[in-house]
Amino acid sequence: MKIHEYQARDLLASFGIPVPAARVVTTAHEADDAYHTVTKDAGTDLAVVKAQVHAGGRGKAGFVKLVRSAQEARDAAEFMLTNKMVSVQTGPEGLDVTRVLVAAGVDIAHEFYLAITTDRETRRNVMIASAEGGVEIEQVAESNPKAIIKEPIHPLIGLQQHQARRLAFQLGFKGKAVGQATKLMIKLDQLFRAKDCALAEINPLILTPPSDAHPDGEVLAIDAKFQFDDNGLFRHKDVQAFRDPADEDPSELRAEHAGLSFIKLDGNIGCLVNGAGLAMATMDTIKHHGGEPANFLDVGGGASQEAVTEAFRIILSDPNVNGIMVNIFGGIMDCARIAGGIVAAAKEVGFKVPLVVRLEGNNAENGRKALEAAAGELPTLQAATDLTDAAQKVVAAVG
Ligand code: GDP
Ligand code: MG
Repeated sequence: MKIHEYQARDLLASFGIPVPAARVVTTAHEADDAYHTVTKDAGTDLAVVKAQVHAGGRGKAGFVKLVRSAQEARDAAEFMLTNKMVSVQTGPEGLDVTRVLVAAGVDIAHEFYLAITTDRETRRNVMIASAEGGVEIEQVAESNPKAIIKEPIHPLIGLQQHQARRLAFQLGFKGKAVGQATKLMIKLDQLFRAKDCALAEINPLILTPPSDAHPDGEVLAIDAKFQFDDNGLFRHKDVQAFRDPADEDPSELRAEHAGLSFIKLDGNIGCLVNGAGLAMATMDTIKHHGGEPANFLDVGGGASQEAVTEAFRIILSDPNVNGIMVNIFGGIMDCARIAGGIVAAAKEVGFKVPLVVRLEGNNAENGRKALEAAAGELPTLQAATDLTDAAQKVVAAVG
């Protein structure tokens, strides 16, 4: 699950990580008002208006704007709320913006990148940092990977003081700013583990120019992005409350309500499978035979008629889908009964696209016979003998 920047900022602040004051608004009129509040408290005339969408690259897309008056704040908000944001992360169709953040602006002496994620190779969380943060971080990672520093985090004891200090020095922090950066890194690690994060990213983490209050500059987070491990969400009511159904894929939400594991993909062959491993194998086999899966869908062990019906409906709601492959392993369940359920579900939903079904396991032979017997009523239905046969048939059927 992803959250918005304004929610991420609240989360950072609740763990003691300093972020500039900000207010989230839904109209240009409110942006005017918010400009006055946030700049007055911060004692500056600089503010930044930022689109709140589940995608990055806003700066380059013109959806992060520095403003110096209430009128400019209002205009920037008006622009963002009435135009789709198209960035490298949104795809050409872009995203609607329904909320903007008005944050107190800060002067920046330097932009850094700081993140924690899980490194599958070492099977540990890893802190990733760079002194070349900001909107070009993707290019830095590609053209100058040495500028990205990684520090593995011990799963039991967390990020240690000495590790964080070393990182702070490597990033070039000086004087009192070293202590600020060190503390911030340790808090970010505490947050990451406490909330079952999958990604915690601050880009940019900034150092302000020296001031009387902060002669070595002040370290602040001015943008943040979080992803949470969905399997840990049940433990975090506060994180669940951040959920914004308007920003999630409607078919994924519908699947979740039906208790199905569903992830929408970009291909045209819908997959309906029982078991996550089998679903992965199904997608691999489809790709191997030249097709593109439209989704990952695990109906669960039982593959009941209700679950299959809802799964068909969800898959068929995707206009890209022009064929479906069902791959069910009947372990305890009898394949003949599963076949009956699939046929009934397909009739109820009404099938126009090719439907290829492969059943294996308990009483599979009778399952296949039941499918073949139903071919008269469901002209697009084909029974397959094995996984390869099913993948070849569905790839051929969708063309
Ligand atoms: P993103 O492009 O979606 O990652 O949005 P960010 O919030 O990271 O903003 C993009 C860029 O805008 C940052 O890298 C900064 O250079 C600039 N920016 C954002 N907020 C401020 C601010 O308060 N003051 C200044 N001077 N620049 C800012
Ligand atoms: Mg950013």
